[in-house]
Amino acid sequence: MKKVVKFGGSSLANAEQFQKVGDIIRSEESRRYVVPSAPGKRFSADTKVTDLLYACYDKAEAGEDFSDILTEIKSRFYEIIKGLNLDLSLEEEFRQIEADFKAHAGNEYAASRGEFLNGKVMAAYLGYEFIDSATVIRFDKNGNFDADKTDKLLAKRLQKCERAVIPGFYGSLNDGSKKIKTFSRGGSDVTGSIVARNGHVDLYENWTDVSGFLIADPRIVRNPATIRTITYKELRELSYMGASVLHENSIFPVRSEGIPIQIKNTNNPEDPGTLIVETTCHKPDHVITGIAGKKGFATIMIEKDMMNSEIGFGRKVLQVLE
Ligand code: ASP
Repeated sequence: MKKVVKFGGSSLANAEQFQKVGDIIRSEESRRYVVPSAPGKRFSADTKVTDLLYACYDKAEAGEDFSDILTEIKSRFYEIIKGLNLDLSLEEEFRQIEADFKAHAGNEYAASRGEFLNGKVMAAYLGYEFIDSATVIRFDKNGNFDADKTDKLLAKRLQKCERAVIPGFYGSLNDGSKKIKTFSRGGSDVTGSIVARNGHVDLYENWTDVSGFLIADPRIVRNPATIRTITYKELRELSYMGASVLHENSIFPVRSEGIPIQIKNTNNPEDPGTLIVETTCHKPDHVITGIAGKKGFATIMIEKDMMNSEIGFGRKVLQVLE
């Protein structure tokens, strides 16, 4: 049995959370590939490291002094390193980041450093190999994820690697510039899925701060039940309509490989969570799996005599909207 385990920002926000994550990983031999996000919020009014990095880079780009925010980011990592009693220095990395910010390396490079640095900390904490995602995850010249190139590079790399930490959220451009490119926000979920596919694992565990997918939005419905099993198709439908536990693109790399995804709660690891599968072999408990919705739609009514028999009418209407 081989697993990829991805941990979200709230699961890695401080040393205490890191320890929970360490316990989870060490409790099963099969948890061989680890994909971390950047440190998230430690309390509700806190700021995610990714957001600090964007803000810091905006200042650098505007030619303003960005040392205050960079120091704040650095202290977030050292708080974790000290709390875990690790003998790890990130001085060299921060010197490089500062120089790259001054050289206008781009805001995607800036944002990616949260995962990059957290990956370094995680690898040191677990004693796992660190694989820089820039070397194995690729984007084409239009900025789209290049699955073919990535599959070749990553599968080969993982073949030689028993246990590794591969940071989430970013990769690099294929065009020789090696420019860093990120997925959209929350994209470490997608990295987890890509690593699962290329590591040929049996299960992709996605660890977060909730015990799985809920039947409805808890801000609207009090105490909704958890969905125990859901198909990729149903999940895609729910994510597309606004349910937001998992990045909506994260099912594609694993689906064709038949690798299930299990959503698990770092703060309650015993909870069964939600298992996402191609098809279920048991009869579902309910006719409806879940409910999600989006606001801000408009409805347009079109009336015209005989439009049902006019060939091309639907196309013309859609062209106007297009
Ligand atoms: N750190 C990135 C974000 O905040 C990516 C991720 O967490 O998946 O969006």
